[in-house]
Amino acid sequence: MGWDFETDPDVQRELDWVDEFVRTEIEPVDQVIEHAWNVHDPARNALIKPLQDVVRDRGLWACHLGPELGGKGYGQLRLALLNEQLGRSHSAPVVFGCQAPDSGNAEILAHYGTEHLKKTYLEPLVANEIVSCFSMTEPHGGSDPTGFRTTAVLDGDDWVINGEKWFSSHALFADFLIVMAVTEPDAPRHKSMSMFVVPADTPGLERVRDVSVWGHEESVGTHQYLRYTDVRVPAENLLGERGAGFAVAQTRLGGGRIHHAMRTVGLVTTAFELMKRRAVSRTTKGDRLADKQLVAQMIADTWIELEQFRLLVLRTAWRIDRYNDYRKVRADISAVKAAMPKVLLDASSRAIQIHGSLGISTELPFGKWVMESFHMGLADGATEIHKVNLAQALLRGTDPDDGLFPPYIRPTLRAAAHDRFADVLAAAADDD
Ligand SMILES: Cc1cc2nc3c(=O)[nH]c(=O)nc-3n(C[C@H](O)[C@H](O)[C@H](O)COP(=O)(O)OP(=O)(O)OC[C@H]3O[C@@H](n4cnc5c(N)ncnc54)[C@H](O)[C@@H]3O)c2cc1C
Repeated sequence: MGWDFETDPDVQRELDWVDEFVRTEIEPVDQVIEHAWNVHDPARNALIKPLQDVVRDRGLWACHLGPELGGKGYGQLRLALLNEQLGRSHSAPVVFGCQAPDSGNAEILAHYGTEHLKKTYLEPLVANEIVSCFSMTEPHGGSDPTGFRTTAVLDGDDWVINGEKWFSSHALFADFLIVMAVTEPDAPRHKSMSMFVVPADTPGLERVRDVSVWGHEESVGTHQYLRYTDVRVPAENLLGERGAGFAVAQTRLGGGRIHHAMRTVGLVTTAFELMKRRAVSRTTKGDRLADKQLVAQMIADTWIELEQFRLLVLRTAWRIDRYNDYRKVRADISAVKAAMPKVLLDASSRAIQIHGSLGISTELPFGKWVMESFHMGLADGATEIHKVNLAQALLRGTDPDDGLFPPYIRPTLRAAAHDRFADVLAAAADDD
């Protein structure tokens, strides 16, 4: 029997340390810095860098990476348990060196970058001396990448990029961007695009405007609307083969989606814990809120949904480790991705409701998490698309039934059973 729902004691000890460290050392930092990704902010650096050193000394730095890149090669299951702890805090993923989108961009560079690109960008990225941006979505539509219009044309030894990108998160702080552009306009659509490294200071890269999202308090929006006008990069900045942009993108998206889900388990767990605390602390008409049945239902529903979601995430992480091939777990990841926004939205909404006016105020984080649930339902692919992908995968191999009625209706099943047991039934009737 291979089923097991217990954590090894040595891993649990590590997780307990992480839990305490996040609670006592990192969560207070969240209260005073504007954006943990902003490596140009002196206050952020003064507070975050010493914590990163503690994590390095503890051997927990960049655990998502294999040992060849300075990580521990933890595997996704163990990483899931770690990320649950980190998901509670804005800064914790950065303190542990496993924050999106840098984690996925590092994977792309590790797989497809030249030695020079690795030295220039991957090493400082993994060390969090710099941060990066993934610039793929376009203003006229993100869900259908086959309609992207940004082009890259080879001119001598350079690629020349023209087009517009929308919602390029962290472009504000990034030292380089990974950009998707059409290079093979005549090829089948899924082989028409390529991926490039674009240094952030390349001439022709224009920041049209900074875009912010509801629930975030930073003074400047960190999701940029970018225009690329004759942006020139050397030929070696092509990542992977010409026309392999979609395959390269998958390198980061599979891992990115499941890592968001692991961290979301942490957020939902926190919403659940705070909900319980308020329910047993607040009284109304002589009873605790917890004693009101409709409040008790909110607590019960949240736990059920959290546990269901957590098990799905852990099982998917286990399958990634087992098969070591994202193509084999694509449907599982779509299921996790599609489930994630609703679990977070429902838990955050109930946490608001139970906390009343305090819950909806900016003194508690739940409103931000409601918006975060929409983030989870859009970034890395809209929920609807993941559901359709999942359904298609689940339906594969299911054959249609012939005939006017399906063969599993009761009259058909009974007739077949009567035929099969005719002798036994006849003998039993004779004995009567
Ligand atoms: C917080 C945040 C951060 C992001 N960061 C980045 C980033 O760093 N880099 C980057 O490149 N992009 C980023 N994005 C963009 C993200 O990838 C897109 O939002 C996403 O791909 C959807 O594209 P869209 O916003 O253009 O919506 P649209 O494509 O216009 O879709 C809008 C809605 O239409 C429906 N829909 C679309 N297609 C289908 C379909 N096939 N079937 C059924 N319904 C459908 C869905 O309800 C969907 O939500 C980010 C988005 C958010 C919210």
